[in-house]
Amino acid sequence: MLSKELGLGVLLALVIFLAYRGYDVTPLLVMAIFGGALYYVAESRGLFKGIEPLDMKNGGQETTFDDIGGQGAAIKELQEALDFIKEREKIQKLGIRPLKGILLTGPPGTGKTLMARAAASYTDAAFLAVSGSEFIEMYAGIGAQRVRKLFRSAREKARRLGKSHAIIFIDEIDVLGGRRGQYSGHMEYDQTLNQLLVEMDGIRADDEIRLLVIGATNRIDMLDPALLRPGRFDRVVRVDLPDREGRLQILKIHTRNKPLADDVNLEDVARETFGFSGAQLESVTNEAAIYAFREGAEAIGARHFKEAIEKVIMGERLDRRPAEEELERIAIHETGHALVSELLRPGSVTALTITPRGSALGYMRQAPADDPYLYTREYIENQIAIMVAGAVAEEVILGGRSTGAANDFNQAVVAARKLIFSGLSSLGVVDEESLPDGPLHREISRIIKTQEERVVYFITEYREKIIQVSEKLLEKERLSGDDFRQLVFADGRDHLQWACM
Ligand code: ATP
Repeated sequence: MLSKELGLGVLLALVIFLAYRGYDVTPLLVMAIFGGALYYVAESRGLFKGIEPLDMKNGGQETTFDDIGGQGAAIKELQEALDFIKEREKIQKLGIRPLKGILLTGPPGTGKTLMARAAASYTDAAFLAVSGSEFIEMYAGIGAQRVRKLFRSAREKARRLGKSHAIIFIDEIDVLGGRRGQYSGHMEYDQTLNQLLVEMDGIRADDEIRLLVIGATNRIDMLDPALLRPGRFDRVVRVDLPDREGRLQILKIHTRNKPLADDVNLEDVARETFGFSGAQLESVTNEAAIYAFREGAEAIGARHFKEAIEKVIMGERLDRRPAEEELERIAIHETGHALVSELLRPGSVTALTITPRGSALGYMRQAPADDPYLYTREYIENQIAIMVAGAVAEEVILGGRSTGAANDFNQAVVAARKLIFSGLSSLGVVDEESLPDGPLHREISRIIKTQEERVVYFITEYREKIIQVSEKLLEKERLSGDDFRQLVFADGRDHLQWACM
């Protein structure tokens, strides 16, 4: 910065001196203006920018593997790989090729960045984090130059901190490491990737500063095969969505610094957050704390968690309130879903509401009985029955359907396709590529129709109960699963036996 100002000062002094001595300074001025404009454009587009890596400190605190929940298997695999780095001498003695790259793959928000940070603390390495998108510029050669600079900075940083290792973390590596040749006429991507491969090939076991590159991606299928070759990203560690036990661990980690009321049972919260990533669970704990704060409560209660889960799934409550007639329809629709869910999977309803949130006018929330790894035909058929129950309830009780069921039917079609392509439909085992649209469409319609017929029976039998519950729902706007069960089955569950047949 100082040298830029000094240069400008000298230039100005020179122009004044020459003008004073009677020289024509116009060409010099034109050149200076032109050069300045060029510099401004280049700088504003970041052409002089190197990579400015993030620090390893996370909000002033070092991340360790204890801060990561529900990833026991992935952490173990990663630690085993990192031990190669820690045991440098033994590795050299045995002539083992150094580990140059580890790839973390999995859905967004599952803790890949956290794992890379924890890897740096575990190996006592300098840490640099960048994102693949930072390397992609319109101008040829800039990305490659940034890759060179990144590796140089990592070594310099380790030297400065007196460390013998450095970890470079590249998030969204698919942006920079996508298959070469896929961007026609855009050699920049290819050059950047080539440079990364060159730098990784240049890592030696006896380097003064040992480098390890950790990449993260949600799309391993997009990566150029050269990146996955032995000697580059040698290890691939899957970082998956957490199961129920994992969700509980993550919730415990994120409520360590939060006061919880006595009625909070984190196991229940973990059960109700099936399919949530670590980032979503962190958001649930944070939102729950915000609801408690807004209410002026001293501690976070179970109701704050319930509200927070709904917010994370569906979005913030909307102020807009549908017309009275629409609300009635929504209440009947949601009660239809809840009734069939409860009949087919007792205890599965956790809440139903007619409060508009995000793009939904109302919803019924189900908790899965357990975290399933496999789905049976019966399970998927029951899910389809629950999905179509809203529309069927509208039809049986109000005499016609509405567009409110469009999303339910989209989901029912997805579930029906799952049945078909798992070989569980009446078509038997079929190939997704070669099955013509006609038979596919007919089979999807048949599966959904069968479930609709089944549901008409349930809804007709429980017609009065549905009307009763929907009136309560209109009055209270939200019913918990227990309130709902109490209203429908207060006189026992004797109907259930035939309903499940
Ligand atoms: P992306 O693929 O979108 O970059 P990611 O997998 O790298 O996501 P992180 O950035 O590591 O996800 O996670 C974001 C935040 O979510 C973390 O800062 C942390 O608060 C929380 N989080 C995610 N996974 C976990 C976990 N397994 N344990 C504890 N917290 C987690």
